[in-house]
Amino acid sequence: VATGVVAGLAACAPPAGSSGGGAEGDGGIDCNVGISMPTRSLERWINDGEGLKSKLEDDGCTVDLQYADNKTDQQISQIQNQVAGGAKILVVAAVDGLTLGPALEDAKSQDVTVIAYDRLINGTDAVDYYATFDNYKVGQLQGQFIENQLGLADGAGPFNFEPFAGSPDDNNAGFFFQGAWDVLLPYVESGQLVIPSGKLSATNDDWKSIGILGWGSDDAQAEMDNRLQSFYTGGQKVQVVLSPNDSLALGIEQSLSSAGYTPGSDWPIITGQDADKANVEAILADRQSMTVWKDTRELGNQVQKMIQAIVAGDEVEVNDTETYDNGNKVVPSFLLDPQVVVKDDVQSLLIDSGFLKAADVGL
Ligand code: BGC
Repeated sequence: VATGVVAGLAACAPPAGSSGGGAEGDGGIDCNVGISMPTRSLERWINDGEGLKSKLEDDGCTVDLQYADNKTDQQISQIQNQVAGGAKILVVAAVDGLTLGPALEDAKSQDVTVIAYDRLINGTDAVDYYATFDNYKVGQLQGQFIENQLGLADGAGPFNFEPFAGSPDDNNAGFFFQGAWDVLLPYVESGQLVIPSGKLSATNDDWKSIGILGWGSDDAQAEMDNRLQSFYTGGQKVQVVLSPNDSLALGIEQSLSSAGYTPGSDWPIITGQDADKANVEAILADRQSMTVWKDTRELGNQVQKMIQAIVAGDEVEVNDTETYDNGNKVVPSFLLDPQVVVKDDVQSLLIDSGFLKAADVGL
């Protein structure tokens, strides 16, 4: 059930110099939006931020887009500045989902509407809506891919398996892990998936203990180096790696290359997420098996619709009012569908749709 209308938008001033120039020009909306993205270091956030900004500007909105260099203090002060600068709607992809409460509560007291973008914001009432891809499904798709590729359901194995997890401060990372683990755990229990590093086991699956803080490729590479050097000493080979996203996959792939693994021969199955250019190139070169593609343009469209509804005083469309409990409330959410991309889909799904250009990925 969609939730009600948010009050206070009458206060939304017409953007200075907007295309409409007045109350409501060219069918556009009048709104003042602060967008807060976590980092420029990942391609996806650059696409997210710039894509959404330009959609909203086409609607006649005033938009301030900020990136927080993965630093939560920086994100808090950017949000405070946006509110002080007149933002009436905030779109926030949190660096750390637990630290934004006080800043957002201040914003709320000034009638600002808050949309959590991609990542949930926890421990506060000051979140009105959440727009994201189905995060559990992202992990589930990765787990099912591994299950199918290896023939686990038919009893194949044992395979040497190394699981990775995302940043412990990112609320999504737990969903990604859980989605994958719910598929893979039975095979860890049956002994079809063996984890030589012992980083997780059937009885200890505390994903945060293996989470790569900040989602850095370099840190994932160092962790993989470490596992290969410490636990694969007797000529043993890793055969499958659960990587929750593309930035980690890139580091893991670098580590495998350095350790002498060769695509097309002893290269393991590796999962990913985001369809970043470098990873799509890796997929084309048989260095990565798949990526879970989240068309960030669709997420932008959904948030644009939310903002249009908010500004018009209409009901905001959501499709999930059960899953995302942030500790204070269940945040009304709109979940989009993620999709698996393998080598054969690159042209039809990523290039033909205009998400990537052929030249971006060396095609
Ligand atoms: C996003 C992923 C992204 C990761 C690292 C997650 O919250 O959902 O798409 O790969 O953060 O930035």
